Amino acid sequence: MFVCAGFAAQSADDTLGPFSFNRRDPGPKDIQIEILYCGVCHSDLHQARNEWHNTVYPCLPGHEIIGRVTKTGAEVTRFKQGDLAGVGCMVDSCRTCASCREGLEQYCEKGFNPTYNGKETVIGGTTFGGYSNAIVVDEAFVLRVPGNLDLAGVAPLLCAGITTYSPLRHWKVGAGQKVGIVGLGGLGHMGVKFAHAFGAHTVLFTTSESKVKDGKRLGADEVVISKNPSEMAAHASSFDFILDTVAGPHEISRYLDLLKRDGTLTQVGAPEKPMSVEIFSLIFKRRNFAGSLIGGIAETQEMLDFCAAHNITADVEVIPIQKINEAYERMLRSDVKYRFTIDMSSLKQTA
Ligand SMILES: [Zn+2]
Ligand SMILES: [Zn+2]
Repeated sequence: MFVCAGFAAQSADDTLGPFSFNRRDPGPKDIQIEILYCGVCHSDLHQARNEWHNTVYPCLPGHEIIGRVTKTGAEVTRFKQGDLAGVGCMVDSCRTCASCREGLEQYCEKGFNPTYNGKETVIGGTTFGGYSNAIVVDEAFVLRVPGNLDLAGVAPLLCAGITTYSPLRHWKVGAGQKVGIVGLGGLGHMGVKFAHAFGAHTVLFTTSESKVKDGKRLGADEVVISKNPSEMAAHASSFDFILDTVAGPHEISRYLDLLKRDGTLTQVGAPEKPMSVEIFSLIFKRRNFAGSLIGGIAETQEMLDFCAAHNITADVEVIPIQKINEAYERMLRSDVKYRFTIDMSSLKQTA
């Protein structure tokens, strides 16, 4: 074991503060990574505040991790010391169930082992995430990180990026299609970038006039103000695919009505309460209403390679770890364009 430094919450009503803890030494298949950047995801806040009622304290979040390899186990083949490396939402899965064998570890039938608030299988206790100076992960769950991109902007690709990339790929979004992205936050801004990069005619739905210009800059061909019924009606039954990234309560049937026959709406924002769906909207046009969870390791690698080839990163505001509690409050007010990334070198200032 070796000692690490990080920021953790000690209870649901605690803010995050300096925390030191042990990590396992790298085993034969493990990689030790010095963490350079970690993106800040809404899940981090939910977990730190026990909003999903399953948090084990101390809770050390962070699953958008970019760093540099400092040590490799004897059987590691894909990484060497000094390489860039990424870790997303998973650090392991059963590897034997049907989903794992298909490379869909996120749907592991035994449940994947999450990067934080999971089970540390070697030294016991809980897994601790990326708000720390180092992490040790089996190489099967480590991503190669392209060196040509801004690393602070790459970090959010590991959760926000793959969460939007995977459903767009699964439903074969591409040129000649009309695709909608609902909401312009951490997820939505990546959805707009990917749908545009895949060649689709991309339409952003937002409630906020102030986001029209930015939506177009990010790649939207059109921006619809969703609270305006006549603007919505003008797009009835015209979309091949809609990706809904909104986690707040909203009326989903208004978007289902915008799909063509056989069109699909995939929900990736996760509202707390059940939503009601106008079933006639589905029946009369054979529309699909679907969900999607992050992506498998192979697809996450494909997404990073795609981003390297197309020069895609998240738009980030880089913060020191000491601002994490303030960042959570701002995130709740959607006061960030469009993701916070922690510069982990700031950790050295908290001795
Ligand atoms: Zn996340
Ligand atoms: Zn499995």
